[in-house]
Amino acid sequence: MKKLVLDLDESLVYSSMEAISPSCIELHASGSTFYTMLRPGAKTFVEYVSKRFEVTVWSTGLQSYLESVWSCFDVPGVTLWGRSFCKKIEGETSGEPYEKPLRQITEDLTQIVILDNTPAMFTKCPLNGILVRTWRGDPNDTELWHLSHYLKWLSTQPSMQRDHRAWRLEALCLRTK
Ligand SMILES: [Mg+2]
Repeated sequence: MKKLVLDLDESLVYSSMEAISPSCIELHASGSTFYTMLRPGAKTFVEYVSKRFEVTVWSTGLQSYLESVWSCFDVPGVTLWGRSFCKKIEGETSGEPYEKPLRQITEDLTQIVILDNTPAMFTKCPLNGILVRTWRGDPNDTELWHLSHYLKWLSTQPSMQRDHRAWRLEALCLRTK
């Protein structure tokens, strides 16, 4: 089965220290309280892709945070990887100080793809990265719905390594065929 890595924050959910919307869910991890919102269609999306891929949700957040947020999804069979599985980028002071080396999951990069809102996560494997729009609470967002069409098609391809930059346009073409 092909493998799919999903980013959590600002890709599938948005978390903050204050409840910024009535749809926020109050959660707790490592002694702190925080509030999380699910991106529109997030649960349906994860259920859909977990039938077609071996899914790892890989977050740069702490494992306790990731597990707490995942309780809102309640989708079985998904692997949860927190910050301890990330590689620290030495000397990085301005941007994201972590990366997610896909070879920790498989050596065969034709059979894995990563979905993330931070392009730095796949600078070392650009043909494996699908960039998603950062989500911070827009209730009309349809990104995951479009992505499910693209991923359905991608799961049927012999190799998933390709230039994914035009994925939205390709998803649109796939639906109008
Ligand atoms: Mg993110």
